[in-house]
Amino acid sequence: MKRCMQVFMVVLLVFGVANGLWAADVKGLIKGGMQDLKIEKGNPNLLALTDATYVKVNGKTSEGYVDMIQEITGCSIGKGNLLFFHRPITYPLKVVLFRKDTKDAVIITYNGKKTGKVNLNMDGDKATKPDGWKQIKEKIGSLSDTFSMVTIANAWAKSAPFDFLKCCEFHNHLCPGVSTGYQIVQFILEKYQLKKAEKYVWIACPLWCKDDAVQILLDLTPGKRSLFVKQLTADQKKAVSGEKPTDNIAGILVIWNNKANKGKAVAFRYDWGKACQVSGVEKKDFSPKGGKKNPVFWTTRVKGNWGLMPYLDKPADFVKVVKEVEVSPQMYTKMTTAGVNPYEVLGLTK
Ligand SMILES: [Zn+2]
Repeated sequence: MKRCMQVFMVVLLVFGVANGLWAADVKGLIKGGMQDLKIEKGNPNLLALTDATYVKVNGKTSEGYVDMIQEITGCSIGKGNLLFFHRPITYPLKVVLFRKDTKDAVIITYNGKKTGKVNLNMDGDKATKPDGWKQIKEKIGSLSDTFSMVTIANAWAKSAPFDFLKCCEFHNHLCPGVSTGYQIVQFILEKYQLKKAEKYVWIACPLWCKDDAVQILLDLTPGKRSLFVKQLTADQKKAVSGEKPTDNIAGILVIWNNKANKGKAVAFRYDWGKACQVSGVEKKDFSPKGGKKNPVFWTTRVKGNWGLMPYLDKPADFVKVVKEVEVSPQMYTKMTTAGVNPYEVLGLTK
């Protein structure tokens, strides 16, 4: 029995030491990455982007890596150059070091067993062309990692506002859909400021990436019953679309007054035609032949990202109010209930 215990302790020790070594390996790789990039600690041209805090490594939460990254790179949340991207808890740890001036990057991966390091150029402007995109994707491997890393790192390099980057963090990438959500929120805050006893409720219908930005910026969540999520069929969409087919119905804001027990609903459209025009893309290229396997699927989105960036705080040309309607408690219940098309309740369906 005693011998059994000894063996057990030795095994535990070996595993413990090995785990420590691997963690130390990540430290060494980050240090090596800094040398590869020829950049010194605290240089404001450096970004550290990681999924640490979201993922678990060998069953342990990964917040400790944030201090490690900060100590070696000098990047910090307060300086706005230590950013995160959302991943499921089961995903490997990833640390991206990225130079704003050269767009050179080092990506470190650790899955709890093995470490890896990739050096590459991650220029967001080159990623707007199929060849440039393919080059970056081949180095990184995973499509979703490529899209997350290229878009968030380059949005930072292009001086995107921090609250916008928070939306990208939660959504795990920047795509034009996130930008449309950011614009809709700017529009809401300009035109529909809350008065006493009022609160916002967002009916995300139909859904696209915008709704994650609404969630983050206004703290409206399904769990708190302040965000309701409903899909529309193609026919239902058609019945509420504008004159132009690219004038998409985008959602309903309810401004609810708890004291008066009534509210106001505002239905919005988003002008995707305008978004495509300022980005120099065509709407059809968002869904090209071959889907995600076709680089055009991605390059169109990257182009849209950079195209919409100058308009993030200029929503008026993109966001349109379709209708404002007084809402009774009965209407509110109906609009938010399963199986009901909320635009029908507002009298907006043809
Ligand atoms: Zn998206």
